[in-house]
Amino acid sequence: MTMIADNLLRVRSRIAQAALACGRTPDSIVLLAVSKKFDADAVRQAFAAGQTAFGENYIQEGVDKIAALADLPLQWHCIGPIQSNKTRLVAEHFDWVHSIDRLKTAQRLSEQRPIGKAPLQVCIQVNIDGGSNKSGVAPEAVLELARQTQGLAHLHLRGLMTIPEPAVDLDAALAVHQRARELFDALNAQGLGLDTLSMGMTGDLEAAVQSGSTMLRVGTAIFGKRD
Ligand SMILES: *Cc1c(COP(=O)(O)O)cnc(C)c1O
Repeated sequence: MTMIADNLLRVRSRIAQAALACGRTPDSIVLLAVSKKFDADAVRQAFAAGQTAFGENYIQEGVDKIAALADLPLQWHCIGPIQSNKTRLVAEHFDWVHSIDRLKTAQRLSEQRPIGKAPLQVCIQVNIDGGSNKSGVAPEAVLELARQTQGLAHLHLRGLMTIPEPAVDLDAALAVHQRARELFDALNAQGLGLDTLSMGMTGDLEAAVQSGSTMLRVGTAIFGKRD
């Protein structure tokens, strides 16, 4: 078994344990393998071990990998910052975008989504822990951006994404993830119909699962340390 296959087993078992510990079914949680800085061969190894959904931060790196792996039935998620001059590449090549943080980006992605492709599945990135120079929309601005995004023809708004600062311990991680969960529930109480809460990485996936995450983005625990 390759190291990546072995790591994937371990991550899936961490997810299953965390889910069962809080009465959730492991199947209700999607695992995204974050392959940034790893090559197409690493992605092939993960695919051979049953992994089909992959996340990329850097647009050009992601597009190159998508092309190199076009023979495999993979789902690609853009999880990094998107400058205006990169929206076309994202709209043409990715299946999901987690990092919508302003209307302009959402509008360009919708306009540039090729005819004949499924709508781009999108999440709004929320600055849940209030870092002043962090990307992501302030929690109080999410409802308006969500409604505007839902009005765009070639996007399908699925939910929220967060990247909190590393927490000092489990309680701190739980506190911040639970704020995201409350925001998610509040938006759904307003009728938004969201089904995706993208939060939790290698270091905090247990806290994220306990707080209701539906999609984990895990890199290091699957592929190893990045340079
Ligand atoms: C790199 C990255 C991840 C994965 O982080 P790990 O700690 O390596 O699991 C998840 N989400 C985003 C947005 C990232 O940039």
